[in-house]
Amino acid sequence: MSELLITLHDKQFRPYLPAEHLYGALDALAQRLNADYADRRPLFVVVLTGAFMFAADLLKRVSIPCEIAFVRVASYEGTGSSGLVQEVLGLREDVAGRHLILVEDIVDTGTTLHYLLPRMRALGPASVEVATLFFKPASLRHDVALRYVGLEIPNDFVVGYGLDYDGLGRNLPDVYVAV
Ligand code: 5GP
Repeated sequence: MSELLITLHDKQFRPYLPAEHLYGALDALAQRLNADYADRRPLFVVVLTGAFMFAADLLKRVSIPCEIAFVRVASYEGTGSSGLVQEVLGLREDVAGRHLILVEDIVDTGTTLHYLLPRMRALGPASVEVATLFFKPASLRHDVALRYVGLEIPNDFVVGYGLDYDGLGRNLPDVYVAV
């Protein structure tokens, strides 16, 4: 991983976590999911766009029978959570009676999940849990239960490994933090 600063739009970012450092967390999460959901054929609901790289690496490690779906929730602009959440788009699967695991890139204020969880529960699933790569406990403003957390991080703005800054940085294999 390069030690050089990178620039995205008007901001500079420094290396924070090489992808290899995430893989131990992903192994541990997948191990728990394999044990907790054996014989339950869970439906992983990946919250786009930021979770795409995490979901790919996590689900390669999940070895039990499972299904995968994708939803999109528009809720965020720039480096501050807008608090505005729009509708849930894209869920075509019948989730009634299913065991759902929402796959999120990062839980910051919890606003997105505070909106999404009741809407998922209203569809009548057997259970709903959350698997998030990153969690910023210092930012949390809503009471959301997070059963599967990859890494807790401070209240900094990170990019890379699927996470963007105004559209840039999602393709970076490693995680960077704003300087
Ligand atoms: P929340 O609704 O929990 O405040 O924020 C969740 C969403 O905000 C995430 O799915 C992500 O899109 C965005 N977000 C929160 N913190 C960060 C961050 O540090 N970096 C990036 N790139 N996005 C973030």
